[in-house]
Amino acid sequence: MSKRKKKPEGSSGDPTRKRLPGNAPCPCDSGKKYKHCCYDKGFEYLVDEEGNIFKSVPMTDEVREVIEEQKRKFIEKFGREPEGDENLFFDMPPLEHAEHFMVEGMKQAGLDPAIIYAFEKTGLLVTEMNEHLISDKDRAEWEAAVLEYRAKHGDDAPEEDEEDELF
Ligand SMILES: [Zn+2]
Repeated sequence: MSKRKKKPEGSSGDPTRKRLPGNAPCPCDSGKKYKHCCYDKGFEYLVDEEGNIFKSVPMTDEVREVIEEQKRKFIEKFGREPEGDENLFFDMPPLEHAEHFMVEGMKQAGLDPAIIYAFEKTGLLVTEMNEHLISDKDRAEWEAAVLEYRAKHGDDAPEEDEEDELF
């Protein structure tokens, strides 16, 4: 993948978000209270100050394993534990790696593959929440990537006809 300076805007944790109260109706539409439904299902529902609900997928065992493995490698190479904010992923490009985790998380959250593709391609994550913060150019790039995926995989988009050469 090519190098980019861009960071995925607005895709990081938002401090105004809090875990949904247990007595709230579960956002999965089960009709049950959150605490009796999705509370322990391996992800969290978060709510921001405006009452918008987000699904948050925490680190999976797989991700934790990768981190443990990297720690072992670090100790092997440097003969000591990593300190402070030292880059645990010393042997790979950090951005790519962070992205890999994001992508895994997105897949687990059942995100639209076109969105995942667009994220991998543009390094952006455009959502209804942050689209007003994103420049027109970046948004156009993002939308093009989403459309490109749909065109390739024929997801929602109508099948593209083979172009016939007409004489
Ligand atoms: Zn639920």
